[in-house]
Amino acid sequence: MIKLLTLLLLLAAVAFPETGCGEEPFQLSVAHLEREQGQFFIVTVTGAQGEPELRFMDRSFQMFRQPNNSWRALLPVENLAPPGSHTILVRQGVYEKSLTLRVTANNRPVQRITLDTTKRTLKATETELRRVKAALHTETPEPLFAGTFMRPVEGGTSSLYGLKRSYNDGPVESYHKGIDIAAQKGTSVKSTAKGRVVLTGRVEDGFQVHGNTIIIDHGQGVTTIYMHLSAIKVKEGQSVEAGAVIGNVGNTGISTAPHLHWGTYLYGTSVDPELFEGYSL
Ligand SMILES: [Zn+2]
Repeated sequence: MIKLLTLLLLLAAVAFPETGCGEEPFQLSVAHLEREQGQFFIVTVTGAQGEPELRFMDRSFQMFRQPNNSWRALLPVENLAPPGSHTILVRQGVYEKSLTLRVTANNRPVQRITLDTTKRTLKATETELRRVKAALHTETPEPLFAGTFMRPVEGGTSSLYGLKRSYNDGPVESYHKGIDIAAQKGTSVKSTAKGRVVLTGRVEDGFQVHGNTIIIDHGQGVTTIYMHLSAIKVKEGQSVEAGAVIGNVGNTGISTAPHLHWGTYLYGTSVDPELFEGYSL
């Protein structure tokens, strides 16, 4: 009887092998399982046979190959993303893995702004919206960045990332997509990291709200924006080193005093630039 049971168990083990027994399809890891709105998750896949497919919050993200042959994605948590549990799903070939990540509220205050009729009608032009959106969504597979990300201008933060904005007592639909650094007009603005200029836009080209603007692609879905400049010192397509002077602080576009608006984007979604300062990717 015992012999028969053993035989049946052995047969069952052969007929229905446990998935992954002995051979792991790939390893999925996330540096921190909990992040605030406006921060990002660092997702790593190792041992995959090809490029993994990644889904998070109803969106697909390209993963980028690293020098050690692992795959990585810096997943942005949008500033207005609902707090709570969100599942990350990774597929490679026939294999699939998931992890539950937690998003917490950053509790950035809501600024209630009252605009008069004239200002309420001030709108960005179709040109600046289209060109800025396209440039911020640049996904170059190669890492153009190298070394530590730096603050583009010396000076204090005069407005934090993520301040939620309600206009004329309406709902919170927008927020501050970068930080403002107060500095005198003409102060040199430097590239935060190595990269390639993918956009230069001037007031006379229709950049009425952004003002004179530069966008730099740092590779692997990371881009940075510099707004309200008085002068632009680089050309589209040009490669820049970290710390290279790219323009000057100004007061162009919708701006009430000279300052630099500095934004960092992952896959076209803004995250807090101060998370990058002093760190290397
Ligand atoms: Zn700003």
